[in-house]
Amino acid sequence: MRVATAQRLPVKPDELGFFRYTDIAGRKLLVNDVGEWMFLDEPDFKSLVAGTLPHDSPLRSGLVERGFLRDGLDLNALAERLGRKRGFIGLGPHLHVVITTLRCNQSCKYCHASRTDMDRVDTDMTLDTAKRIVDLAMQSNNPYLCFEYQGGEPTVRADIIKFIVEYSREKNRYENKLLDHSLVTNMTLMNEELGEWLLANNVLLCTSLDGPEELHNFNRGWVGGGSAYAHVRKWMEWFNRRYVELGRDPELWHVDALMTTTRKTFDHWKELIDLYVSLGLRNIHIRPLNPFGFANKTWRAIGYSMDEFMDFYMRCLDYILELNQQGVQIMEGTAATFLKKMLTPVDPNFVDIRSPVGAGTGQMAYNFDGRIFPNDEGRMVAAAGDPFFAIGDVRTSTWPELVNHPTVKAMATASFLDALPGCETCFNVPFCGVRPEHNYMLGGDLFGQRPNMPKCKQHMTISRHLFEKLAHDTDGRVESIFRRWTIQRPRLET
Ligand code: SF4
Repeated sequence: MRVATAQRLPVKPDELGFFRYTDIAGRKLLVNDVGEWMFLDEPDFKSLVAGTLPHDSPLRSGLVERGFLRDGLDLNALAERLGRKRGFIGLGPHLHVVITTLRCNQSCKYCHASRTDMDRVDTDMTLDTAKRIVDLAMQSNNPYLCFEYQGGEPTVRADIIKFIVEYSREKNRYENKLLDHSLVTNMTLMNEELGEWLLANNVLLCTSLDGPEELHNFNRGWVGGGSAYAHVRKWMEWFNRRYVELGRDPELWHVDALMTTTRKTFDHWKELIDLYVSLGLRNIHIRPLNPFGFANKTWRAIGYSMDEFMDFYMRCLDYILELNQQGVQIMEGTAATFLKKMLTPVDPNFVDIRSPVGAGTGQMAYNFDGRIFPNDEGRMVAAAGDPFFAIGDVRTSTWPELVNHPTVKAMATASFLDALPGCETCFNVPFCGVRPEHNYMLGGDLFGQRPNMPKCKQHMTISRHLFEKLAHDTDGRVESIFRRWTIQRPRLET
């Protein structure tokens, strides 16, 4: 990846707007800071940088409109577009992850440090801690807040969830924010009474579904509880039926599912996607394992390299695209995040893929014991014995102290792509995002080295693959599918 001041070409820098470029599908892809992009054939690219592109070239208007040429450039419009793309900066944390307990009745192969057995009531949150969390979170200047309940299994302490939902709504009578509540649950403790309460209170639901029965039960052990897979299916069907009975639009109201990839998933990739399709799920987020904190023996059983993961991911993505071309509507989550950045004028503000990363600036995580972290991964690092990312405690910290904490600033600096060596010249800067806590766990420092970062490999490969698809898309069919993946309808204002 190089910037457009290449040494071997005669360049007219005073005629060019600022952009980065790379080679994709035998053409040059130009990208600028506002996320505008354009393919040029090699001879046109050479003429552009040499300043010899004819004034009546049909390419000129597109180049000017996207800001690649200075002649005719509307700097104010460009600044406004940049403002929209980076609008999340200064909005403050919207995602508030609440760990109601570490207790869990499942023992998943990849859940190494974040769970305790069901008799460990000392890992439960108290109501006083829950109240202080709401009091802090509501001080975020973001007009939209989402409380996301995680664990352990968060419904072990359903009373904490109910308290936060009701107390935050009470406080919101004066704050007037847009409030969401989202529950990430394994469904093992679900019952109809709790289910009806969640429905009545518009709590968004997300469960774990790792694939077909054999794979799901292998990944997600449930000692003495029977088939975890059968249980998840039963409750997904129950909720989805109730949404319909309540007259909710099933496109907007349904149980979402998340999967985690283990080595065993590689053998079941097609069945996994077919299962999601058969359940009417519109989104499958193909996610790699967090690559740290595993004992060697466990990693040998379920782990893999990023190269192996990307090989699996590409097979999945191409199959999902093939299904879409047959009229099936399902999208892949990470690709959809990148496409929203590539094909729309806004950034989706997905806290894990943005620059700077959302740690402490887009999200906060509150541990059961009241300790606060800039994100959930920081909490997991602490659970593994290293409190490096702890930034405060609900009993003693003020909101300004949290958002101005040196660790939050360091993570923002370590993930601001425009200034990172190796990133600053990369075409992927407007779309990508890095993870300082991954760098810390893998290499001992927040910044990491680009060629050695698995996230760099993952995001570079995905972006290049998506652009390759667009480069070969002569009839616009792929782009129209990709554009559909960028559409986000709001569910409800609460
Ligand atoms: S992390 Fe890698 S892909 Fe992303 S901007 Fe940096 S160099 Fe490019």
